[in-house]
Amino acid sequence: MAALAPGKTVGILGGGQLARMLAMAAANLGLKTHIYAPDPDSPAFAVAGARTVARYDDEAALTSFAALVDVVTYEFENVPAEAIAVLEPLRPVRPGGRALAITQDRLTEKQFARDLGFATAPFAEVADAGGLARAVAQLGRPAILKTRRFGYDGKGQASVREGSDLAVVFRSLGQASILEGVVPFAREVSVVAARALDGAFRAFPVCENEHEGGILGVTRVPAAIRPETEAEAVAIARAIADALDYVGVLAVELFVVPGTAERPAETLVVNEIAPRVHNSGHWTLGGAATSQFEQHIRAVCGWPLGSTRRFGSILMRNLIGAEADEWADILAEEGASLHLYGKAGALPGRKMGHVTRVLPDETGR
Ligand code: AMP
Repeated sequence: MAALAPGKTVGILGGGQLARMLAMAAANLGLKTHIYAPDPDSPAFAVAGARTVARYDDEAALTSFAALVDVVTYEFENVPAEAIAVLEPLRPVRPGGRALAITQDRLTEKQFARDLGFATAPFAEVADAGGLARAVAQLGRPAILKTRRFGYDGKGQASVREGSDLAVVFRSLGQASILEGVVPFAREVSVVAARALDGAFRAFPVCENEHEGGILGVTRVPAAIRPETEAEAVAIARAIADALDYVGVLAVELFVVPGTAERPAETLVVNEIAPRVHNSGHWTLGGAATSQFEQHIRAVCGWPLGSTRRFGSILMRNLIGAEADEWADILAEEGASLHLYGKAGALPGRKMGHVTRVLPDETGR
C-alpha cells in the first residue's frame, strides 16, 4: 500500500495516555485519529476527532470502526487476537498480528528471543502448582513467577524465595505462568526503535530505566553503558524487528549484567519486547528531533522515519498518583516540560503524567 496522505485517518485501539500522545502527534502531521476503547472516560478521547466506545470483542463495532479508518494501530499488547482477526482483512493493522501474538505471551516472547540467539533469564513454563514445584527444582530460588499474559507495571508477578509455600505462590497468580531465574543485573536499559514499511530501521539512543515498586520511575539518556554495549543493544532490537517484519515503534527492555574477571564485557539479557510506543521512550517528546509518537505514526502511515538525534542529557520522571499535584512547581521550573494525561482520579500507582528535563550537555547524571 502506498503511503497514506495527510488528511487520512489513523485508527487506534486503546484510549490511554499512549493513544493520547499518538493522536496529538498524528494531528501535528495533518492526520485524523479515531480512538476505539471500551472505557467512556478514556484520556485519548479528548484529543481525537472520533471515538468508538465498545468492547474489543464487539465484532460489529470493530467492523464499523475499520470502515471509518485508513490504517489501524494499537497502544497496548493485550488486544485480543480475535479483534485483530476481524480487522486485518479490512484494513492494514500495524504492527501486525504476529508481533502481537508473540509479545503478548511472556513464554512465546522468551522462546522467540532465545531462538534468535539472544540471552534471556533462565525460564520454565508453569501450567499448575505441580508445574511450579518442577520449575523451582530446575531453576532454584530465588525466582520470579509471572503470568504469561496481561502483566504490566510489575502486576501479575510473585517472588519465590527460600521457604515460600509454592501452592500459595501459584494461587496468588492462579493462571498459566512462567518462572524466571533472577538476573543479577547492574542496570536496566531499553531500546526504543522504529521499523518502516520498507524495512528501514532507526533506534533512539539507548536509555536507562529505574523502576520503583515495579513501575517505571525515571528514564535517563544516555545510558551509562559502553558504546559496544549500546551498539549490541540496538542490533538486538533490529534483529527482533526484522524477525517480526515489524512496522511501527517497538521497545526492547534489556538487563545489563556486569562483566566478571574471566569475561570482562557487559552482557545483555532480553527481558521484554513491547510492540508499541513505550514509557521509556517518553523522553523523546521534547528530548529528540522526532518523538516516538511521531515516529510510530510515520511508520504505520508508510512514511519515512524521522531523525532520532537527542538534544542533550535527558531525565524523564513519571508522575505517579499524587506526584502530579506538583504540577505548579514543575511549571515554574526552567527547562522542565510537563505532560499531564487528563486522568480524573490520582489513584496510587496510576500514571498521571511525566516531566522531562533536557540539559544541554552531559552533566545530567
Ligand atoms: P517485567 O514486568 O517483566 O518488566 O518486570 C518488572 C521489573 O521486575 C523489571 O523491570 C525488573 O526490575 C524486575 N525483574 C523482572 N524479571 C526479572 C528477572 N528475571 N530478574 C531480575 N529482575 C527482574
